[in-house]
Amino acid sequence: MRKKYIAANWKMHTTLGEANVLASNIIKKSKPNTNQHIIFFPPFPYIQSIADLVSGNESYSVGAQDCASEPKGAFTGEVAAFMIRSVGGKWVIIGHSERRSHFNESNETLKKKVELTLDENLSVMFCCGETIEQREKSIQNQIVETQLEASIFHLNPAAFKNIVIAYEPVWAIGTGKTASPEQAQEMHHYIRQLIAIKYNDRLADEISILYGGSVTSTNASSLFSQPDIDGALVGSASLMTDEFISIIHVGL
Ligand code: PEP
Repeated sequence: MRKKYIAANWKMHTTLGEANVLASNIIKKSKPNTNQHIIFFPPFPYIQSIADLVSGNESYSVGAQDCASEPKGAFTGEVAAFMIRSVGGKWVIIGHSERRSHFNESNETLKKKVELTLDENLSVMFCCGETIEQREKSIQNQIVETQLEASIFHLNPAAFKNIVIAYEPVWAIGTGKTASPEQAQEMHHYIRQLIAIKYNDRLADEISILYGGSVTSTNASSLFSQPDIDGALVGSASLMTDEFISIIHVGL
């Protein structure tokens, strides 16, 4: 049975104190089952603190929202994958649409980040998804295929097992517009087919594919009932304790 993930992307929100309270309350009040895993993606400076909170609890882990595309050196302001590991991070989000659009991250840059992250024995949450213009032209499959092909499909099967894919249509992120369960299922199924063609059926069946884009406790159950949707990457709703816990419990 594929692992189910509910991931909280806190973006550039919260103070250290607020992040600690948020994570503590979620850990205290939520009851994930054994097949479910919860990941907190706080801002960089809070990773260590949240890592301490989840330490020893197998249902939770912590990761970074990004990493540098260089291994180390004179890159002022950047945070390398090995640094994330050294403060207790287990995951890195790579390819979030906000990084692709606001920071001009190319598929080639993302490929480098993926490799550096995996080299540190961290897992990758790889985001892909189309813009509204691309969906209106009905080229969403082509766009997502190109993103996967250019940044993660070069990996060998053993490395690829450390990837979780998050399909996040850009038009649904932070907009309150969610893809319908059918639209999301269609893309998730397409991605799984691509993995089967590129690798094999077994690996395609093992890889978790999350949906992201305005997930709330209200729309989560119809999304999670789709056969190829294995959880969610949650932005805004992950900053609200009860709302995020409800999403976790819907996914049980
Ligand atoms: C995200 O940032 O990955 C995201 C899905 O945000 P939101 O849930 O706010 O749309």
